[in-house]
Amino acid sequence: MLKENLAAVEQKIQAACARAGRSRNEVTLIAVSKTKPVEMLAEVYDAGIRDFGENKPQELRDKHPQLPGDIRWHMIGHLQRNKIKYIIDKVCMIHSVDSVRLAQAIDEAAGKLGIVMPVLVEVNVAGEESKDGIRPEETEDFVREISVLPNIRVEGLMTIAPYTENPEENRPYFRKLSKLCVDIKEKNIDNVSMCSLSMGMTGDYEIAIEEGATMVRVGTGIFGERFYPRAEADGR
Ligand SMILES: *Cc1c(COP(=O)(O)O)cnc(C)c1O
Repeated sequence: MLKENLAAVEQKIQAACARAGRSRNEVTLIAVSKTKPVEMLAEVYDAGIRDFGENKPQELRDKHPQLPGDIRWHMIGHLQRNKIKYIIDKVCMIHSVDSVRLAQAIDEAAGKLGIVMPVLVEVNVAGEESKDGIRPEETEDFVREISVLPNIRVEGLMTIAPYTENPEENRPYFRKLSKLCVDIKEKNIDNVSMCSLSMGMTGDYEIAIEEGATMVRVGTGIFGERFYPRAEADGR
């Protein structure tokens, strides 16, 4: 079943890339495996996926040693400073930097390990009260402020778009994030590369790709429904 799900997602990604005149290798599919058992992750791994996303630090820490070492783990969920230690040596990127204090704490932890951690800035592009993330109009200043930290590198922006039945409704948000990324990139801030755009989930990843996503985070579309109220787990 997972193999078929994955094939269907892959086919839709290819079609969206074609519609947008983009190359398939500009888009990384991140399989969002939160709440799912490692056996299912292993099956998806065997089907060729190497990028996995988790939203809880302890869950990522626990799954990590049970799976092959060439997996690229992405921390995509809200991160508390006291939990950085669980994941700092295990992830290839942290998608959810939404405060200076968090960025400083990641910087410090990365410094102790002698690594530079790639991070994305989470932007609350739709201005939803319930969501974490930097306000769009404050994003450039925020990026400038954390860009001086030597052990992180700001590589782009991330957003969690509103939950909607009609993915077209999220197109303006994806477009806005994409434009924001370009605008900040043009400022040529030291230590900021701004080429990655993490946007699009099961309900709207095709639209996100059409609007420039370089990483899509797909959970349900690959692993099936999660067995808890979606609003609670997704921060929606
Ligand atoms: C759960 C989650 C996803 C995947 O959601 P689906 O709708 O199941 O594809 C993507 N991004 C984040 C930050 C999540 O927490």
